[in-house]
Amino acid sequence: MSPISRCVDNDELARLVRQYGLSQPVTVTRPTLPSLSEFAASLEGVWSRCWLTNDGEVHRELEAKLAAHLGVEHISLFCNGTIALLVALQALEIDGGEVITTPFTFPATAHVLHWNRVRPVFCDIEDKTFNIDASKIEALIGPETRAILGVHVYGNPCKVETIRDIAARHGLKVIYDAAHAFGVRLRGRSLLVHGDMSMLSFHATKVFSTIEGGAVVSPSEELRRRVNMLKNFGIANEESIIGPGLNGKMNEVQAAFGLLQLRTVEREIANRRQIAESYRRHLAEIPGVSMMQDLPDAEHNYGYFPVLIDTDRYGLDRDTVYTLLKRFNISTRKYFHPLVSHAPCYAELPSAQPDLLPVAERAAREVLCLPIYGTLDPNVPQVVARILREVHAHVA
Ligand SMILES: *Cc1c(COP(=O)(O)O)cnc(C)c1O
Repeated sequence: MSPISRCVDNDELARLVRQYGLSQPVTVTRPTLPSLSEFAASLEGVWSRCWLTNDGEVHRELEAKLAAHLGVEHISLFCNGTIALLVALQALEIDGGEVITTPFTFPATAHVLHWNRVRPVFCDIEDKTFNIDASKIEALIGPETRAILGVHVYGNPCKVETIRDIAARHGLKVIYDAAHAFGVRLRGRSLLVHGDMSMLSFHATKVFSTIEGGAVVSPSEELRRRVNMLKNFGIANEESIIGPGLNGKMNEVQAAFGLLQLRTVEREIANRRQIAESYRRHLAEIPGVSMMQDLPDAEHNYGYFPVLIDTDRYGLDRDTVYTLLKRFNISTRKYFHPLVSHAPCYAELPSAQPDLLPVAERAAREVLCLPIYGTLDPNVPQVVARILREVHAHVA
């Protein structure tokens, strides 16, 4: 017997599916695209110049416009966020030893450490923001510690001041994986100005996209130049190669796509905000279903809408709810499950042991990201809430 039919009577489930099931499958995210003709028109300059990559005109325009839009001074565009983070660590000379980071993230965060010959040291997370728990960092610092790599999970700002102070006391660098934090502001300023460097991802599933793409935000022009040199094979000019670089460049077609996205990203975020508010209204007070709230000092981007399913209080576990919603044509994601600390390359590390990471383990067990994107049918939050409410009433 499947776990659903054990908990919800089959006839009853069939009735609910007839009543609430969506006619078209809804994905957890979906990019908001410019029209194809608009995109083609935006490429005319690229075609006429016949200049496709390597610091082209569109690339430079996107860099300048993004810097202004985000409120940062020094930005370098990349082919994707993972390579951007890899290069950021190289630029800060973090290429060995240990770095304290979070297990509750996309695997790329830890993998980039691994590719830089750095041993990740996993630190547990806070239950409200899902971010690295700054109060647990200091106990993990040892003679090999080089840096703290925080992730602004779901766009929630890490405790940047506390982390800065810890780093200053111990002579550590601070890097942020800000893949989720496009446009997020903390106390009126860009979140990206915190730390020694921040990485952004412009992957198709993110709030702002260049299909694949990313960026590094540096605190100075000197570091930006170093990042740019490293993303271009370590070539300084036609006569000199000054370091072991790689190819991390963004091309003109990606950049043109990004310029169009930049025109609509504020509307995308405003639409997502409405969806998030609708979920919050409709999901309120379903026993065992809890949600993330906006932080009073932050402007959010609504990239994700995670809920936590408490098995005992709701009556079903998260995995069953995931399978159940699929029956109604609603896709959700267990983001982030499994924890990256469970991957075989890290599972043997002392810091990866589940009993040391109780909050992260629990979040990974309970979290479910619901569909959210600018063009989502505005009825979906209400439909999801009705299903969750009726199913709960049925199993309670
Ligand atoms: C998307 C993402 C990445 C990877 O970015 P890519 O652009 O896909 O390489 C890294 N970290 C986090 C937290 C992400 O969500």
